[in-house]
Amino acid sequence: MKSPSEEDWTRLDKAVAGTVVRPGESGFGAVSLPFNRRFAATVPAGVVSVASVVDVQRAIAWARELGVGVAVRGGGHSYAGYSVGPGLVIDLGPLNTVSANASTGLVTAGGGASMSDVYAAIEPCEMAFALGNGATVGIGGLTLGGGVGATSRVHGITADALVATTLVTADGEVLRCSADENPDLFWACRGGGGGNFGVNVSFTFQAQPVTDCATYVLLWHMEDAEKVFSVVQRTMRSAPDAFAARVGVSTTGPDAVVSCIGQHLGSAASLKEVLDPILSVAEPFRTMINDRTYWQAKNDLLHETAAGAFAARTSVLTQPLSEDAIDAMLAMVRRWPGGGNPDGGGAALFSWGGAINRVPAGDTAFPHRDAMFLLSMDTSWAERDSREVVDANLGWLAELADTMAPYGGDRSYLNFTDPDLKSWRTAYYGDNYPRLAEIKRRVDPDGFFTFEQGIGS
Ligand SMILES: Cc1cc2nc3c(=O)[nH]c(=O)nc-3n(C[C@H](O)[C@H](O)[C@H](O)COP(=O)(O)OP(=O)(O)OC[C@H]3O[C@@H](n4cnc5c(N)ncnc54)[C@H](O)[C@@H]3O)c2cc1C
Repeated sequence: MKSPSEEDWTRLDKAVAGTVVRPGESGFGAVSLPFNRRFAATVPAGVVSVASVVDVQRAIAWARELGVGVAVRGGGHSYAGYSVGPGLVIDLGPLNTVSANASTGLVTAGGGASMSDVYAAIEPCEMAFALGNGATVGIGGLTLGGGVGATSRVHGITADALVATTLVTADGEVLRCSADENPDLFWACRGGGGGNFGVNVSFTFQAQPVTDCATYVLLWHMEDAEKVFSVVQRTMRSAPDAFAARVGVSTTGPDAVVSCIGQHLGSAASLKEVLDPILSVAEPFRTMINDRTYWQAKNDLLHETAAGAFAARTSVLTQPLSEDAIDAMLAMVRRWPGGGNPDGGGAALFSWGGAINRVPAGDTAFPHRDAMFLLSMDTSWAERDSREVVDANLGWLAELADTMAPYGGDRSYLNFTDPDLKSWRTAYYGDNYPRLAEIKRRVDPDGFFTFEQGIGS
């Protein structure tokens, strides 16, 4: 990759309506630091925060002319740090306008809008679609990688609600993609992963009217873990689509907490009926079950994370975990090596299925249309932790994933990106990978948009 001269940077700065910042300049950290500090050592040569579609075209043209690599930044939350690189970061942050039309249910979000930007626009219209539970997560990365939320068993994945997206390609063309226009690219933008085909400057979704609902938080001590995991999995077999659960075990050291958290698109009274077998198996030390408006529920489930550095591995499960598998998982969690991040380490099952599975696996690029749960295994550490602590955490996570491999499948969720995953092509995309690679060859023949787990690499 070439190093642009000072004149080159000045030329870019003059060419765009947005801003260009370089290392050491005011505001550089805010637009260059990845949310996952595991990748904080990657410092871009410059960041262009684009103010318009034309800015995106000019930034691409500038980078192409000079042979500079680019990374596209939406919300900056890539688990694998794929929105930062050593060259030019195209920061979509200023493209965060969201408009919502209550009569058509159509919601159009700029490519750099965050979850909170989208929620702020849709709440007054009392309509929604499946969204992520991190306020600063970007709509771009979420949608392009699929997007699973607490209402996905009713609403499908975020990408299922997408009806159109506008993309700036590697040769600067602006393409509208929908079922009727550039349908191949539209297919690829629903689960094919961000940063692969171009810069998505806007996304249009079809939202649904919201209903009141209920949320719950149940907590147990570690001694009840086996019983709780077993009963939640059994309950999910017959639970209505309206019910969603995340059952997890997490530890920050000497003790571990077992939790079952979720949302039900019905009343608290009907939620209690679904939860009855779970509540009867072991008494939680904390129980919260409440009627909620849709918007209160969204706030209840917002995941506040300590950030710092983290890593995750996932396994898409089509069957519940066996008792042996649960025992093996819990034994590994008891051996978590420790670290300075209050998020600790652990494992969780997210309920998938329902509406997600009513779309055929080849209809969109997101292939996991037969799953019952996503098993997510994760660990975290503080930036100040020593290399030994980091290595111990990554070693533990690899061992946990190896331990669980015989019980799960060989598929993973792209949006919980695992940069250490070797089989990522089939794990993330299944049978859809060859079509994605073919679309990539057509739309970006020179591989201008490239990164470690990029399509075609
Ligand atoms: C705290 C937290 C909560 C989360 N909650 C959920 C959840 O509830 N459900 C879920 O499914 N996932 C969730 N995730 C995972 C999340 O969906 C992914 O990390 C996602 O990739 C983040 O998107 P981003 O735009 O914020 O990240 P970025 O790092 O900016 O982007 C991720 C990838 O997409 C590309 N990209 C982003 N925007 C665009 C665009 N407009 N055009 C082209 N390429 C683009 C980037 O180049 C990069 O390759 C969560 C992650 C975190 C850290």
